[in-house]
Amino acid sequence: MSNERDRELGMDRTITRRDFLNGIAIGAGAAAAEGLLPSLAWADAGAGIAPQDRPEYYPPMLTGLRGSHVGSFEAAHNLRDGNFWKTAGKSTDTAESYDLVVVGGGISGLAAAYFWRAQKPDVRILILDNHDDFGGHAKRNEFRSGGRMLLVNGGTWAIESPVPYSKVARGLMNDLGIHPAELAEKCYARETYKVLGQGVFFDKETFGSDKLVTGAPGEFGNPTPEAMAKFIASLPLPEKVRNDIVRLETTDQDYFTGLTSAEKKDRLSRISYKKYLLDVVKVDPRVLPVYQKRTHGLFGVGIDAVPALDCWVLFLPGFNGLKLEPGPHPRMGYTPRGYASPREPYSFHFPDGNASIARMLVRKLIPSSTPGSMPEDIVTAKVDYSQLDRSESPVRIRLSSIVVGARHVGETGTSREVDITYLRDGKPFTTRGKSVVMACWNMMIPYLCPEFPENQKEAMHYGVKIPLVYTSVAIRNWKSFQNLGVRHVFTPGMYHHEVGLELAVNIGDYHSPKSPDEPVVVRMERTPCLPGLPERDQHRAGRGDLLSTSFETFERNIRDQLGRVLGPGGFGPAHDIDAITVNRWPHGYAYEYNYLFDPEWPEGQSPCEIARKPFGRIAIANSDAAAAAYTDTAIDQAHRAVQELLSA
Ligand SMILES: Cc1cc2nc3c(=O)[nH]c(=O)nc-3n(C[C@H](O)[C@H](O)[C@H](O)COP(=O)(O)OP(=O)(O)OC[C@H]3O[C@@H](n4cnc5c(N)ncnc54)[C@H](O)[C@@H]3O)c2cc1C
Repeated sequence: MSNERDRELGMDRTITRRDFLNGIAIGAGAAAAEGLLPSLAWADAGAGIAPQDRPEYYPPMLTGLRGSHVGSFEAAHNLRDGNFWKTAGKSTDTAESYDLVVVGGGISGLAAAYFWRAQKPDVRILILDNHDDFGGHAKRNEFRSGGRMLLVNGGTWAIESPVPYSKVARGLMNDLGIHPAELAEKCYARETYKVLGQGVFFDKETFGSDKLVTGAPGEFGNPTPEAMAKFIASLPLPEKVRNDIVRLETTDQDYFTGLTSAEKKDRLSRISYKKYLLDVVKVDPRVLPVYQKRTHGLFGVGIDAVPALDCWVLFLPGFNGLKLEPGPHPRMGYTPRGYASPREPYSFHFPDGNASIARMLVRKLIPSSTPGSMPEDIVTAKVDYSQLDRSESPVRIRLSSIVVGARHVGETGTSREVDITYLRDGKPFTTRGKSVVMACWNMMIPYLCPEFPENQKEAMHYGVKIPLVYTSVAIRNWKSFQNLGVRHVFTPGMYHHEVGLELAVNIGDYHSPKSPDEPVVVRMERTPCLPGLPERDQHRAGRGDLLSTSFETFERNIRDQLGRVLGPGGFGPAHDIDAITVNRWPHGYAYEYNYLFDPEWPEGQSPCEIARKPFGRIAIANSDAAAAAYTDTAIDQAHRAVQELLSA
């Protein structure tokens, strides 16, 4: 892109991201003086005080490239490549000993500590995490824009699950005082964006011209063929393609006459939605780009790699005439199976997503860290990170500490302790735990614990976590959304596949913006992959893409995309953007089995079941252990791991 185009986009404007290049603080002092950032300078951490112990430490306000930020993963990659121990140096013994060491400070790790303490209140627990903030995927992005606090989730969006929360997960929610349906009723500001609808943006590179289309008749129910035809006529697509979209969206044809509902479901489970559209509904191939990314948000891959059956559950078009009976089928993926079953509403989005759950767990574990006691006060509570790792506290959370080894002292079968080695500030340290919960990612564990059985290590490597990016952009006002009449736009051909206003939620002292003149956060999602390959290979390719993309590239694409989509509503990327945080998750959602590519394993034989077996004093938690990317599964797996250790 030319320098002139860069200037139009505002690449030369001073926003908070200027001070964080690929996540590393440069010139943070100046930004702090402007009140934009806490003055975090990781580089001088060697001064003797760990960054998290300093009073100004507050990672939720960091902008730029977050998620798997620079400094959090390089040691893991060196370990994988066999280079780590060549240069690591000798480990320093901390002379500490804990009843439990938890590897990973996400919801699963925090829940494991909570469950352990609930049964053994007098124990000492250490939680180690490689990131500079706790919560794992449940991260908080906090902005100050126009003098007000703006919050958004940097990862985990909401309490929601395709299956009802288990007794264990629901019990934990109750202990924290979280009653999702009641909170949703009380806190959702449904009026704020009530008159705004959904849109689709057709970009010139994919569809020949830039055009935002709004007012789809199917948005609030099944469209009539006439209403749909009228709407589709406005799409910038050739006539044949438009006609096929109308046919697809309104079809009542039974393409599998003579088969029972179960037989039809079985057949749909064996072909991708792309194949269903091309070979069964027989649409023009030029229809596909309109639908290709409709599955990205949930699966991280497009319709070429998602079974048609799962797309039926997600309400994608083309299935009405099949008259499928509601309810699950043995060959449905994890995600849609539950959505096909009737269920009570049990869902709530905190303004910072499930980071609020992580923060409430931390408050329970280390009360001095966070004021308050209710879900209503957690959202604006400021966590005092200097309280997280105090020697006098029975529970300690040590950040920026990546575990690189966990070995039983003596024989595994009879050992009473595990040596845990972690790298912090470039130096290895060893500490000791009588029990260990690995609440980190499955594929890391073989490198940390080479003594695990070979078949278990192989099973740990099976799943490939799904790469995704949640981008948060603080903008000065949302007049452009108001002018265009949209709150959410699907952008199937662009860098991020969707753009939308953060949900309006008022909780405790936190109030979402009400007027279009007020600043707001825009959420954007990107899920890089390589269509045509098996799902796990697509994720590997997407991860490579994420790890090799600079913040500058992200920023240029974000500005270009917002300018083109919202520009006709008056948005100017050069002057309307206040701050950008790119939450990069190369290892995002836990891999969920996909029967287009994965075998149907017998009970107890799936990779996650083999991988999660305890080994000596080490048990395995994390959502990978369930092959299901949800908060409740992370909690359930923590509970199982703790019970295994306590009953051993
Ligand atoms: C972008 C995104 C959006 C999501 N949205 C939702 C949603 O709306 N609702 C929902 O229910 N679920 C959602 N999920 C899934 C949900 O976030 C996860 O299932 C859950 O939070 C996983 O928690 P966990 O503790 O098992 O793992 P994680 O959150 O991944 O935590 C594990 C922690 O261990 C750390 N770790 C790894 N290796 C090491 C090591 N060697 N040493 C130290 N630490 C290590 C990791 O870096 C991480 O911080 C989402 C996930 C993502 C990525």
